[in-house]
Amino acid sequence: MGFDYIVVGVGFAGATIAERIANVLNKKVLVIDKRDTIGGNMYDYTDENGILVHKYGPHLFHTNLENVYNYLKKFGEWFFYEHRVLGKVNGKIVPIPFNITSIEKSFDKEKANKLINILEKEFGKEKKIPILELRKYPDKDINELAEYIYENVFLYYTMKQWGQTPDEIDPNVTNRVPVFVSEDDRYFQDKYQFMPKGGYTKIFENMLNSNNIEIRLNTDSKDVLKVKDNKIYFEDKEFKGKVIYTGALDEFFDYELGALPYRSLDFEFESINKEYYQEVGTVNYPTKEDKFTRITEFKHMTMENAKTDKTTIMREYPCNYDKDKDNIPYYPIVNDDNMDLYNKYLEKANKINNFYLIGRLAQYKYFNMDLVINEALKLFEKLKEENDG
Ligand code: FAD
Ligand code: UDP
Repeated sequence: MGFDYIVVGVGFAGATIAERIANVLNKKVLVIDKRDTIGGNMYDYTDENGILVHKYGPHLFHTNLENVYNYLKKFGEWFFYEHRVLGKVNGKIVPIPFNITSIEKSFDKEKANKLINILEKEFGKEKKIPILELRKYPDKDINELAEYIYENVFLYYTMKQWGQTPDEIDPNVTNRVPVFVSEDDRYFQDKYQFMPKGGYTKIFENMLNSNNIEIRLNTDSKDVLKVKDNKIYFEDKEFKGKVIYTGALDEFFDYELGALPYRSLDFEFESINKEYYQEVGTVNYPTKEDKFTRITEFKHMTMENAKTDKTTIMREYPCNYDKDKDNIPYYPIVNDDNMDLYNKYLEKANKINNFYLIGRLAQYKYFNMDLVINEALKLFEKLKEENDG
């Protein structure tokens, strides 16, 4: 067959592991993806307005992991970009995460000062407090503020995004966007925050540019890989090399134990005939009346000093993932029942000796891209040891 490894999926998980195997181990890798593009959900392209847009939702690179930053920066040029998000909160436009400025914009001066003083005294400046914890606070003023933020920032956004209330979903999800006792209005506080000059797709091209890597797009693993008696067959011949799979695990096993739940999104792109549509890259709509969760205006985040007369925006409409429809499993829904089912699939996967899982789908974790790359780099160390040993 001529290759030592097969990688299924060419998002950051697949591209990272393929790049390492090809360039460090000097082994042949076949990379397959069912889409007709590389990059997985990071895929971007320049649209008819001359704007670099992200096909699968807005993707901001941010990390505290130095190893991930050092790894990625080799594959292209990056420019410094710190993401800012505003939200339409009870009719006012305020920073998200909800912070000191948001309080000042939401309440009259006297009340705002009182609330800020209490928060600074109780929690300290620059502290981040998950909304579900803030709601448990006995102090009357804090409780009133917590209810205001819960209702106007979290409740309807979360209902739209997950089809459930913030109390019903994994608390780690809403913890991603805490209440912040700070004037810092950046969406992330990570040490490294950059965007790729010219886009992510270019970064992927550079990662995959090796004579040791063969890429086959429009190739679904279910058509070329089969498992029988815990052995993997590629195009009907037993494959003795290693397979790294980054797709959904329930799909790999043909849903034989049941389908794992995911949330999906519909993206609505719109071309606007003016230079800018909104003040920042993302405006959230945690409102009851709007069906979408957020509007992204790409030129703020993807292009340095963009000079175009037109702009492109995108609205996100969350929906259920349905494996029989043409939508994509973007978000694993992490809860005890779903993890039980996932672990049953994992048991089956672990019986196949030469089969490895990485990525947001294959690990069924709400990973940001930096954590996916980190998982791939960790797996590479293991593969390297196996190769060297
Ligand atoms: P993917 O990018 O999903 O790649 C998996 C690939 O496998 C796909 O190309 C798919 O076609 C292919 N595949 C699947 N099954 C098969 C099969 N059976 N056969 C062949 N190919 C298959 N992270 C951040 O760090 N910052 C952000 O701002 C950010 N924003 C996000 C916004 C949205 C709307 C979403 C959904 C995610 C966001 N993320 C963000 C998370 C980020 O997208 C993921 O962490 C990362 O893209 C996951 O990489 P991956 O390789 O695991 O999966
Ligand atoms: N969230 C919210 N209101 C907001 C922003 C976020 O309720 O204005 C909640 C919501 O449950 C969301 C979660 O916090 O799913 C995580 O938000 P994040 O922006 O990290 O989501 P992602 O970019 O991964 O879709």
